[in-house]
Amino acid sequence: MVQKVVPAIGIDLGTTYSCVAVWEHDHVEIITNDQGNRTTPSYVSFTMEERFVGESAFNNAAMDPINTIYGVKRLIGRCFSDTSVKEDINLWPFSVVADANDRPKVVVNYKGEEKQFFPEEISSMVLMKMKQIAETYLGYTVKDAVVTVPAYFNDSQRRATKDAGVIAGLNVKRIMDEPTAAALAYGFHKIKDYSKPQNVFVFDLGGGTFDVSLVNVCGGHFEVKATAGDTHLGGEDFDNRILNYFVEEFKRKHKKDIKGNARALWRLRSACERAKRSLSTTTITTVQVDCLFDGIDFSSTLSRTRFDELNKDLFTKCIELTKQCFKDAKVDKNEIDIVILVGGSSRIVKVQQLLGVYIGDKKLHRDINQDEAVAYGAAIQAAKLSGQGDELVNNVVLSDVTPLSLGVAVDVGVMRIAVPRNTPVPTTKVDCFSTRFDNQPSVLFEVYEGERLQASSNHLLGKFVISGISPAPRGVPKIDVCFEIDEDGILNVSGTLRGSGETGKLTITNEESWLRKEEIDKMIKEAEKYKAEDEKHLLKVNARRKLDDYAYEMSKTIRKPELLSLISDSERKKIEDRVYEAISWLELNEVPTVEVSKSKLRVLKEICEPLVTKMNSRNQVDVVEL
Ligand code: ADP
Ligand code: MG
Repeated sequence: MVQKVVPAIGIDLGTTYSCVAVWEHDHVEIITNDQGNRTTPSYVSFTMEERFVGESAFNNAAMDPINTIYGVKRLIGRCFSDTSVKEDINLWPFSVVADANDRPKVVVNYKGEEKQFFPEEISSMVLMKMKQIAETYLGYTVKDAVVTVPAYFNDSQRRATKDAGVIAGLNVKRIMDEPTAAALAYGFHKIKDYSKPQNVFVFDLGGGTFDVSLVNVCGGHFEVKATAGDTHLGGEDFDNRILNYFVEEFKRKHKKDIKGNARALWRLRSACERAKRSLSTTTITTVQVDCLFDGIDFSSTLSRTRFDELNKDLFTKCIELTKQCFKDAKVDKNEIDIVILVGGSSRIVKVQQLLGVYIGDKKLHRDINQDEAVAYGAAIQAAKLSGQGDELVNNVVLSDVTPLSLGVAVDVGVMRIAVPRNTPVPTTKVDCFSTRFDNQPSVLFEVYEGERLQASSNHLLGKFVISGISPAPRGVPKIDVCFEIDEDGILNVSGTLRGSGETGKLTITNEESWLRKEEIDKMIKEAEKYKAEDEKHLLKVNARRKLDDYAYEMSKTIRKPELLSLISDSERKKIEDRVYEAISWLELNEVPTVEVSKSKLRVLKEICEPLVTKMNSRNQVDVVEL
């Protein structure tokens, strides 16, 4: 019996935009959303009546910035006390608070009540939207997905993204690195030409993250040699620089600070973002916002030179990280065959210029679709994992690396590295430890990730204890600590005391700072509840729309001149009054219940039906006459 293969989808869950793709009929299809767009804003907006995700949420942002959430990819897997989180909060119109475990939560007003959501929950809402977009296109339920993350995402950011997938009801088959996905999108059709190895450098500068990877491509083999980046560097930072610049200008000119006004800040930010985009094609642009603050219109100009100046250090950082990636890969810049530009911000002229000067302008490949490449690659990987691809797909072999070094704090807090950064994953490394004192009964292991020598300057992933050690001189008991990194780049650490059954396990999920199983289960239930509420709301909206369409249609019919010969004027007036009564009622009732809308429609139809019948029969006569 032929088994029906249900396709897995590829989702690029971006800071600003997300994109979904599927392998179908031997090619990758980028799926358009309900507005016909190939990417969807990663925005979620809450109102008195409903929840919007994607385009509609983005459109609602100007009206209600404090209840419209975006950019949560900059929060996911981070602590509230992170300096970068604090900086973002200062410029976001919505508010973010800390829970008892220093985890950030966004605060919104939904249906008149204050609600708090973890970044994972907001991301899950975006993922659900992307799932839904795919389902509408495919016509059936989707379960499996490959979700991409910046290559430079650390263990907690990867875990949190996977949790977001679980909350969204997805089976995340793989967490895939974004630059690797882009390299795959680029190299996939060239597999046959690549009998000789090629060094492909992926430069992905998006809305919130910067990510580079050096990928060696040979035939269908895509082997990542090194990766570098900054999970907090992208288009939003450039917007912030422009925003701050104009906030200061406004202060200087008008002696007023707009910082506390969420709506003004949002409108100015949008204007700054538009200005930034146009500076990719022009050298000077205007920034204009009518009635920005206290009735004052704002108008100014921004030149490309000024924009470059404002972001100079950030652009330089991109080149520094590029250099670091080459150094780590032990590849000279002259050995690079091609540079693939990915991410919306890679369109910035200065960025391309700096990169061109450093690597050679001719090597910059600008043809790939900057906004879709990541989802494209994810769809190929999804096809391979679900066994629905063709021979070319099946021949693809991907090998990623771990972005950060992993190790344990030893004597006086020094980090002993067990898995150096850029080690190919999946991997298993075993390191042997012992006691520091004579007759020490237990050893505490603190596992860190990062590049600093001082363990405490790195990121603490978790702890575990091996106890029950029999009395022995220091250095005699042997404890094997096993680091296992899976294909998603997610780490598991366990320790075993040699010659005994004593084991310990780093159970990161039990750490207070991450979501616990019960919390995730609760969130899944809530996500389902919100989905059901959205669906119920949609029914109301649809019922109201039917009444609205009918009333509007009748308001036009009633004014047709040919009607005069069919009904008396008083009869016409009577129907017209009822139609306008319905229209006024609709204006006052934004979300009536389905039953009320239906019954209003029924009554209106009963009144208008004789008229419609008369009109139809007249039209038929007209046809015969013709
Ligand atoms: P992400 O994957 O992080 O969501 P994208 O790759 O979709 O990000 O890029 C979005 C970012 O690119 C936004 O900050 C947007 O302002 C910026 N961007 C888009 N087009 C241009 C352009 N023509 N010039 C400069 N920046 C751009
Ligand atoms: Mg991206």
